[in-house]
Amino acid sequence: MDFSSLLNSFIPSWNSVGLLLGFFSYLGIAGSILPGKLVPGASLADGTRLHYRCNGLLSLLLLVGLLVIGAWMDYVSPTAISDRGCELLSTTFIFSVVATLLLYVAGCKSSDRSSSLKPHITGNIIDDWWFGIQLNPNFMGVDLKFFFVRAGMMGWLLINLSVLAKSFQDANLSHSMILYQLFCVIYIMDYFFYEEYMTSTWDIIAERLGFMLVFGDLVWIPFTFSIQGWWLLNNKVDLTIAAVIANCCVFVIGYVVFRGANKQKHDFKKNPKALIWGRPPNVIGGKLLVSGYWGIARHCNYLGDLLLALSFSLPCGMSSPVPYFYPIYLLILLIWRERRDEARCAEKYKDVWEKYRRAVPWRILPYIY
Ligand code: NDP
Repeated sequence: MDFSSLLNSFIPSWNSVGLLLGFFSYLGIAGSILPGKLVPGASLADGTRLHYRCNGLLSLLLLVGLLVIGAWMDYVSPTAISDRGCELLSTTFIFSVVATLLLYVAGCKSSDRSSSLKPHITGNIIDDWWFGIQLNPNFMGVDLKFFFVRAGMMGWLLINLSVLAKSFQDANLSHSMILYQLFCVIYIMDYFFYEEYMTSTWDIIAERLGFMLVFGDLVWIPFTFSIQGWWLLNNKVDLTIAAVIANCCVFVIGYVVFRGANKQKHDFKKNPKALIWGRPPNVIGGKLLVSGYWGIARHCNYLGDLLLALSFSLPCGMSSPVPYFYPIYLLILLIWRERRDEARCAEKYKDVWEKYRRAVPWRILPYIY
């Protein structure tokens, strides 16, 4: 492909705008009307809590079901996304910029200034636009932070499924593609199965909604996490049985640590006496869990996520660094995030956090970091 046709492939068409708006409309409607557990979020500065309807799994299954029926009846092309990946990327990027400009204006005009939930305005336009002004903005009753992360995770799966359809169409379905697709499906379905755990994560409880988060959720997650799939469409990899087994082991260990650590923290927040690995938990200052994974490293959940990210890339072999973009990016992101979370916790928990640091000296990987 020459440079000018590559450039042309990024020009948004009405088709890509329609696909994106159709997807968001579906998510907005399905999220509002489908049944789901109503989960209370963390306490806000004024003592109130938001409630999140966790019906992501049902919304996803219904959407995939509708798309399969649509494809079967020839209304929808299974390769609709993979055929226009570049223009969907630029359309989503433009949408993110516009959405964050609107969020910025809404944040500046917010009437909440007198309450303890007042918007955070530094006066530095770039800063306020990048990091956001409001902690929990909503549109027509839909919590936008929860909505965008859901859209990103579902978008990732839809891109992957479309890439899979493309490899069927091109008759080049490989073991590597099957492995990559399988790991991602398990990870994404698991995310929606445990969607309520999301309500106690850093993004939801602490991060304001600005360009960084909107872009991260809508553009970064679906388009960069699927790089391995795009890469496998055009590259052939021969995996030995030993490599497949090793790859599955990395995935399983990563999954057990990632899910186990996040579950232990979530259970602890709901019930501080909940058993951890069959025993009553050790707690510091009545607030911080020192048992289970949280007694091994202060962010074992990040370690599990990093192993998972690696397992998504290993099916691509070692011939190119391109498929390793995601684990490398995640490593940088999680090291940075761990530092920010550490600063937030040190300020919030004061000497209790200091005691926790002494009890659990490792940040992410015991004996190394
Ligand atoms: P955590 O889920 O680790 O949440 C951190 C918060 O947990 C702290 O601010 C504190 O909040 C609480 N906490 C910390 N230590 C303890 C303890 N010992 N006992 C009890 N509570 C504690 O962080 P994230 O939200 O960043 O990550 C959640 C998951 O999402 C991780 O598995 C991560 O890997 C994944 N993730 C994935 C990304 C990706 O791009 N794939 C990006 C970001 C995250 P409090 O004030 O409530 O006590």
